[in-house]
Amino acid sequence: MKLIFIGPPGSGKGTQAKQLAERHGIPHISTGDMLREAVAEGTELGRQAAPIMASGGLVSDDLMVGIIKERLAKPDARNGFILDGFPRTLQQAEKLDGIVAGNGVEPLKVLQLLVPDETIVKRIALRRSCPQCGAVYHLEHNPPAKDSVCDRCSTALVARPDDNETSVRKRLDAFHRQTMPVVSHYRSKNAVYDVDGQGPIGEIFERIEKTLAQG
Ligand code: AMP
Repeated sequence: MKLIFIGPPGSGKGTQAKQLAERHGIPHISTGDMLREAVAEGTELGRQAAPIMASGGLVSDDLMVGIIKERLAKPDARNGFILDGFPRTLQQAEKLDGIVAGNGVEPLKVLQLLVPDETIVKRIALRRSCPQCGAVYHLEHNPPAKDSVCDRCSTALVARPDDNETSVRKRLDAFHRQTMPVVSHYRSKNAVYDVDGQGPIGEIFERIEKTLAQG
């Protein structure tokens, strides 16, 4: 399975993509997670990306394509992968098509999670994540067992620096202007599967599995 997860920020694509990758035994490749790791480690990439991410802007296509090309060349991605957060622009999509073309016959599929903007703005205000292991919670729909502490590693949970309303509105704007053309690009190849991203996490997961099995 070579799958691209597309959805607005806070649509639950990270949560769903992680579960799906585990179920199918393929890597979950999240460019947002890779960048956050680089920021936490203080690498040159992290230093460049941090202010862009905090403001809700997009890191340059050249940088992102380089990161993904290197990641997809690793042996664990040979039999499939789930991309989460990439491609985010038409240029990234075209570059990705070129990278994947030399990499076996299986075509890319795109799973689009549909969630309205106003639901996103409300959801993101209640999102918390673990700075240590990356687990993501929602204070109402998927709360940690103990207040503000990660279930897996007991680290204090934090709100992501880019999960404030100004940044979220900017990320939504970038999504509509720059990422929706990616959906159109793959729709013209009949590769897009739309799934309603509203409701309980388990139900959305079942919808995704069912949609992919039919496709
Ligand atoms: P995410 O966790 O996918 O919401 O990504 C968090 C932030 O990382 C985004 O708001 C961007 O600033 C940056 N980012 C992640 N993936 C990409 C990408 N493919 N292209 C450009 N910027 C990205």
